Order: sequence, then C-alpha cells, then structure tokens
Amino acid sequence: MTRAFITGISGQDGSYLAERLLAEGVEVHALAHDLEPLPDLPGVELHRGDLSAVPDVRALLLDLAPDEVYNFAALSSVARSWEEPDLTARVNGMAAAALLESALLVQEKHGRAVRFVQASSAEIFGEPDRHPQDESTTLRPVNPYGAAKAYAHLMVDVYRRRDLHAVSAILYNHESPRRPEQFVTRKITATVAAIAQGRADSLALGNLDARRDWGWAPDYVDAMVRAARADTANDYVIATGVAHSVRDFVAAAFTRAGIDDWQDLVVVDPEFVRPADPTELAGDATRARTLLGWEPTVDFAELVGRMVDADLGQGSASEPRG
Ligand code: GDP
Repeated sequence: MTRAFITGISGQDGSYLAERLLAEGVEVHALAHDLEPLPDLPGVELHRGDLSAVPDVRALLLDLAPDEVYNFAALSSVARSWEEPDLTARVNGMAAAALLESALLVQEKHGRAVRFVQASSAEIFGEPDRHPQDESTTLRPVNPYGAAKAYAHLMVDVYRRRDLHAVSAILYNHESPRRPEQFVTRKITATVAAIAQGRADSLALGNLDARRDWGWAPDYVDAMVRAARADTANDYVIATGVAHSVRDFVAAAFTRAGIDDWQDLVVVDPEFVRPADPTELAGDATRARTLLGWEPTVDFAELVGRMVDADLGQGSASEPRG
C-alpha cells in the first residue's frame, strides 16, 4: 500500500489532497501544526508538529518511511510575509530544504524511491520578463513570500540532482470555497454574498488592477499527484494560462449574485494595498499538459460561480471548511 505524508494539512490543498489519496486507498499521514485546530479528515493519521522543528520532523519521516511526500506547509499569505519576513523564510524556505534532506535520508535508509512534491508559487517570478511564464522564466521575486519560495524551488533541483524524485509545482493562484477569506477571491465572494443577503453594505479591497491566473484548487492537486507519479521528476507550471483582474473577479461575483449596479459598493482601502505586488501573472502549463496529460477543468466564470454559490449557501460545492 502506498503511504503518503502531507504537510500543511489544514489548508485548502491539504484537505483536497487527503480526500483524493484516501479515495485511492493510500495510507495518509499528515503534519498538523501545533497552533491550528485539528482538521476534520477521518482516515488521515495526524501528527502534531511544526515543520521548522527539523529534528522532530526528520525522526517522524524516518519512522513512517512514506512513498510520497507533499510539502504544502507554508505561511501562505503574501501580505503577511511583509510583516514576518524572517518567519516566512524559515517556514517557506529553510524548512522545505530540511524536508528534502529528510526525504533523501528515508530513501537511502530504506533503499526505495521517495517521491517529493514541493508546492511552489508563481510568486517566484515576481515581475517576470515574459508573459505567460513557463519553467524557464527567470526567478525575480518581489516580496518575502516569493523569495522564500524561490529558495525552496532551487533546492528541489539540488536534491533532484542527488537522485531524489523531487518536483516543484509552480502553482498559480488556485481557489475554491475552502479558501480562507485572507485571499482576495474568497473575500470577494463571501462579502458579495453577504451584501446580497443584507449582511454587509460594502466591499473594501486593495489593488483592483492586479491580474492573476485563477484556477480550481482540486485541478492543481491533481497535477501534483500526476507529477509525483510520473516516470521522471521535473518542474511544472500549473496554471490556466488566462489572467483576469481583481476588478473582473468583483464584477463576475456581483453579476452571479444578481447585483448589476455594484460600482458604488466597492471601496479601495489603502490597508489592503501591498508595498509591492506583481502586476500580472499568467502561466503556460504546456509541459504539464504534454508530459502529465493534465488540464484545468474549470474556467474563470465557472470558478467564480461555484464560489459565489457556495457563499450564498445554494451551491452543491458549498462546504463548511474554510
Ligand atoms: P496571492 O496572489 O497569493 O497574494 O493571493 P491573494 O488572493 O491574497 O491576492 C491576489 C491579488 O489580489 C494580489 O495582487 C493582491 O494585491 C490583490 N488584492 C486586492 N485587494 C485585496 C484584498 O483586499 N485582499 C487580498 N488578499 N488581496 C487583494
């Protein structure tokens, strides 16, 4: 039986991955952060710990000897990375490097391959020199989050050269009703639903002109599983290839909720404007499409629709997890 180890189990991707692997009959172990409530994922063996507590995590990994390791643990907020750049570097960068080393030690000790997937980010490209970006685009992060993820991304290649099946999945923004409201998509859909239901009267946002390539989170989890199990290890951009502005997302969400006259309901609050913010990120996933047979199944309009419906409490995608 395949045994998998997931870090970052409390997040959106961790929950989707755990459900997917359990459905396949995989034995799923996960690291749950000490400070977070335990996720409600029956069938997952949860281990309490902090990814940056390297000796503890290494001992656990050597003991479990998983076949697949998915590193999703991270400080996931770009905005927060400006407040805690050192913690971001420790968790998103150095702890990933230590986990790669632990996976290699497991492989050497047990004499069988360990497959490692690092959840990387489009933020490693920052202000990219080309659009859309692919796996050969120059790394040029513009915030502490992107810089830390860039270090981890480079370490994946270092360990791949040491014969670890190490994959860096360069994930563009991927969303679902499980996204916490600290991310702009869910903030928009939750607030638009609240306005439609008379529970709120305005939506305060930062940069409305930022353009992002938003996809459906379970599709991105599917790409990572495919990459883990492919014959050769590689880096993959995982994206839809289509960028929309935050303003486009707002318009689509209000329209879905049946509110046509929304312009006066949106206010720009400097509190949500970041010191530096990539203008546009859109990914070219040709390599994943070609080598993994992967493709996104949900387009922008469908994504916005599913999230708004879930927040209005009408959609089949409505799920309690945040
Ligand atoms: P990120 O790409 O991982 O930082 O995902 P976010 O969903 O947090 O942000 C996506 C984009 O939305 C960024 O360009 C933000 O600057 C922009 N944005 C505009 N207003 C807001 C806001 O109120 N909250 C957040 N989180 N992002 C906002």
